[in-house]
Amino acid sequence: MRPYDADVSLDLDLRPAPQPLPDAERAAVLADPGFGRYFTDHMATARWTTDDGWHDAAVHPLEPFTLHPAAAVLHYGQEIFEGLKAYRHADGSVWLFRPDKNARRFARSARRLALPMLDEDDFVAAVEAVVRADVAWVPSAADGQETSLYLRPFMIATEAFLGVRPAHEATFGVVASPAGPYFSGGVQGVNLWVTDRYVRASRGGTGDAKTGGNYAASLAAQAEARDRGCDQVLYLDGEEHAWLEEAGTMNVFLVTADGELLTPALGSILEGVTRDSLLELAPDLGLTPVERRIGLAELRERLADGSVTEVFAAGTAAVITPVVGIRGEDRGQGAVYEQQVGDGTPGAASLALRAALLDLQYGRTPDARGWLRRVV
Ligand SMILES: *Cc1c(COP(=O)(O)O)cnc(C)c1O
Repeated sequence: MRPYDADVSLDLDLRPAPQPLPDAERAAVLADPGFGRYFTDHMATARWTTDDGWHDAAVHPLEPFTLHPAAAVLHYGQEIFEGLKAYRHADGSVWLFRPDKNARRFARSARRLALPMLDEDDFVAAVEAVVRADVAWVPSAADGQETSLYLRPFMIATEAFLGVRPAHEATFGVVASPAGPYFSGGVQGVNLWVTDRYVRASRGGTGDAKTGGNYAASLAAQAEARDRGCDQVLYLDGEEHAWLEEAGTMNVFLVTADGELLTPALGSILEGVTRDSLLELAPDLGLTPVERRIGLAELRERLADGSVTEVFAAGTAAVITPVVGIRGEDRGQGAVYEQQVGDGTPGAASLALRAALLDLQYGRTPDARGWLRRVV
């Protein structure tokens, strides 16, 4: 028995969908896919048991799961996931962006959630196999539209057992969903609600793992943000409620008047692939990347004195979402504060970083760092 180790490589069986969605219907979906609403013809799955390791790996027609009602994932949330995109370049070729980073993070999340290890190459191979099977679903970005095929690898504990221990059975899967431009009609700025009531993570918790429970716990905070007239939440640290963490589904960055690109250091936040890429690209745009603790007090002072000029959130889905204002409640006083970022519109550095990353992902600038991986 090898509980959390799988040294066997997945042998992916390819079973093409006998009845893929007709071309005209797929074209209608791709004309306005939105986000996460439609799914492609295929999926990948593989099963794992403590006795047999990984087996039954296949790319096959998309189909619902059958789960025992006592499956561990349904009761104890033993689950992890990833999110990455396939981009179509102007010549029709299809590429992934740094999928090795997602594979490594998936392995880290698996360790934290006591799920079985999936070889990082197998993770990438499964993602690629789904993209190949559903390449017709990768939208054409010919007109400069930010369209892509969003890929959602995940792993769930499937063993029917109500005791609390790591499950002895798990399923890995990859589904794909075409994605339209995140911002239709130009990049919009958002307002963040600095929550003092909820925390997303604390030291030693699961904040640095990509697991569904973090998201379940974020929904009430998100509702609070909406009630306060904000678009998303800005979380503070769990111990002192004083240090910036992240924006729930995105990492957070500040741009300073003296050219620093500041972001909270790793620890209880999720290590974003976008975050890492922006820190690496920063010098190309004349910005100095800095990872450190950032106090809410510092942010508020520096927004007021103008030495922080821009704030943005970063993640795969939206790339960069400019933050044009923050709002929150002063502890114990009940008074709501509200501060504008810069002139209240998306900042130049945020937009330049966004364009630089998109140009790379869509093959419009040379890939000097070897971040792109061709699939088709
Ligand atoms: C996925 C995720 C991010 C962004 O990560 P990317 O790899 O850049 O997409 C940030 N925060 C949380 C909580 C996430 O789950």
